[in-house]
Amino acid sequence: MRSTKGIEAGPQKGRALFVDRDGVLNDLVYNEEEKQVTSPFSARQLRVFPYVAPAIRAIRELGFKVIVISNQPGVAKRQFTLAELERMNVKIRKELSKGGTSLDGEYYCMHHPEALIRKYRAVCNCRKPEPGLLIRAAAENDIDIRASYFVGDALVDVEAGKRAGCKTILVGHMTAFLAKMIEKERVTPDFMVPSLKEVPKLLRGLGAQ
Ligand SMILES: [Mg+2]
Ligand SMILES: [Zn+2]
Repeated sequence: MRSTKGIEAGPQKGRALFVDRDGVLNDLVYNEEEKQVTSPFSARQLRVFPYVAPAIRAIRELGFKVIVISNQPGVAKRQFTLAELERMNVKIRKELSKGGTSLDGEYYCMHHPEALIRKYRAVCNCRKPEPGLLIRAAAENDIDIRASYFVGDALVDVEAGKRAGCKTILVGHMTAFLAKMIEKERVTPDFMVPSLKEVPKLLRGLGAQ
């Protein structure tokens, strides 16, 4: 893991902190039926972490656009409707607005190779670990991807970020299992922090004013 490299912004282009949604902005939920931890399936289930609004406000004050990059195959798998996905995203936007901030963009991959809904059935270039969504978001928002960061809670986020050319921040705690996965998958995050809460401080430490 690297920790001393400074932040270089391009002369004209902006820089972004791309953020994964589930597990970074909002908590994961325990699914009784499937006996596993998953992304929320409803706005009612979705809980935004209390530190998210202040963290995003601080990150934007450092000059970063904050843009969500998220796989959302739940509609394709009929786990929830498109309207419910929108209600979840509205809930996140409202929480941020209450905290005096907002997102600069939101990009979702709706595809899944085994989607039950035909129009979402695809092997696409935007489902992480593919870098397509990051590349598109950078192009559409005039972002210098090499001066940008991607924060996620899974190794697919780290891999997508690396393939897109940004620096990567893994959120969570190092465990023996995670260390093994990092070694096996050969995707090492540039930085690791417990949560999004620590990201403003990390960026300041890297030279962002
Ligand atoms: Mg996640
Ligand atoms: Zn996709």
